[in-house]
Amino acid sequence: MSVRVHFLGTGASIPTKDRNLSSVVLRYNSELVMFDCGEGTQKQMSIAGLSLAKKMKIFISHMHGDHVLGLSGLLQSMALLGREKQLDVYGPRGIMKFVDCVNDAVQFNPTFPLNVHEVRAGRVDDARLYEVHSAWMDHVIPCLGYSFVEKPRPGKFNVKAARRMRIPEGPLWKLLQMGKTVKVKGRKIHPRLIVGPSKPGCKIVYTTDTRPCDETVRLASKADILIHDSSFDTSLEEKANLDGHSTATQAARIAKKAKARRLILTHISARYRTPAVLLREARKIFPNATVASDLMIIDL
Ligand SMILES: [Zn+2]
Ligand SMILES: [Zn+2]
Repeated sequence: MSVRVHFLGTGASIPTKDRNLSSVVLRYNSELVMFDCGEGTQKQMSIAGLSLAKKMKIFISHMHGDHVLGLSGLLQSMALLGREKQLDVYGPRGIMKFVDCVNDAVQFNPTFPLNVHEVRAGRVDDARLYEVHSAWMDHVIPCLGYSFVEKPRPGKFNVKAARRMRIPEGPLWKLLQMGKTVKVKGRKIHPRLIVGPSKPGCKIVYTTDTRPCDETVRLASKADILIHDSSFDTSLEEKANLDGHSTATQAARIAKKAKARRLILTHISARYRTPAVLLREARKIFPNATVASDLMIIDL
């Protein structure tokens, strides 16, 4: 299954004409998995061609406005459009109160089942094809980083072998592909005879806002993509530390330690008209680094 990563908002604290506030969406198997929902995220979704009616889950990192305030507008738009599918929202303590208060004050009257989950570090979601894990980051308020971990992808189905063994096409092929032993005219057929070895699934990790920390290294171990806080360049390291953020250099060190394949720098301070300095810094330590921009897409 392929994953498409949409960067909807890549700025820090205040939206600018070039950068909206934090939000990343994974498009996976006709489902959307969103990390953070800064203001105006529903508009960015519409520009990116992501439907508000789709099966969807939202994972909020922390209760700072630039990561959560877009949720109220998004929920309102979904209700106005008559969304029917269930929506699950995950986040640290405070997320339930936030959604309740918004609903109390503006009565967006959801037209869909809305489940809000307050979560801690650990496995926060176990779906059929993937899991989502979380870990505590090092910010100025409780903040969770998330990893999307796809379960192993099934191996290649050997059609010729299946025909040779006279296994009728249809449900039995499906069962074999799913790793189940089947019976054909009393003969037991093990999937190993028909299906190749499974391949590891992909891993995408989202960690902002945070100072550099060991929890990120663990969460992002061997990730295909690590999306990391890179609010500032090294000349502002002291400020980054004070505000609970990372510099591009620090993000690159974390990616290297975690043995991630690719690093995407995000949560870029509005002071950088061009992110060239951040990119230069990061690539000195971790060459496969990119600075995220709004509406950027990565396919995995
Ligand atoms: Zn932030
Ligand atoms: Zn924050």
